[in-house]
Order: sequence, then structure tokens, then C-alpha cells
Amino acid sequence: MSEIEEGRVGGFTVQIDRLICVGFGDCIEVDPTPFQFDDEGIATFRKELDGVDREALVEACRLCPVDALTVLDPDGEQLVP
Ligand code: SF4
Repeated sequence: MSEIEEGRVGGFTVQIDRLICVGFGDCIEVDPTPFQFDDEGIATFRKELDGVDREALVEACRLCPVDALTVLDPDGEQLVP
């Protein structure tokens, strides 16, 4: 089962599996530009996704301890996890 939220961030496609996310907050700590907590303490996208640094984004997603974040580059190649 999954509850995928998908966003276009800096030309990349980023998916948050909100059923896997346990709200540790590592992604938000490393790169708060695209991510925030919702009212339930689960990661979600911010409304405004402009100005995201790609390297910081990929690093933030790599650090998710439960692999709740997937990143695809503009060619559809999976960079994370
Ligand atoms: S690092 Fe992973 S588990 Fe932690 S808030 Fe972000 S998506 Fe959720």
C-alpha cells in the first residue's frame, strides 16, 4: 500500500510515500525549501517549489532513513533511493 505525493522540483520528479514516512524530519532539516510537515507530522511539499537547489534536494532525499523519498532526473532515471 502507498500514498504517493508527487512534485516537480527543479526539473526533477520527487515522490513522497506518505505511508512510509515516519516524520523523522531529516529531509526537512537538510533542505527545507521543498519539504514541510503537515498537521500529522508527515512530510509534504511546500506550495512554492521554485528556487530549490538540486544538490541539496538529492542529498536530503538520500538521507531519508526509511527510503520514503524517490527522485527521478529529467530523463526519468531514478537517482534516489
Ligand atoms: S526524512 Fe523521510 S521519514 Fe523523515 S520526514 Fe523526510 S520523508 Fe519522512
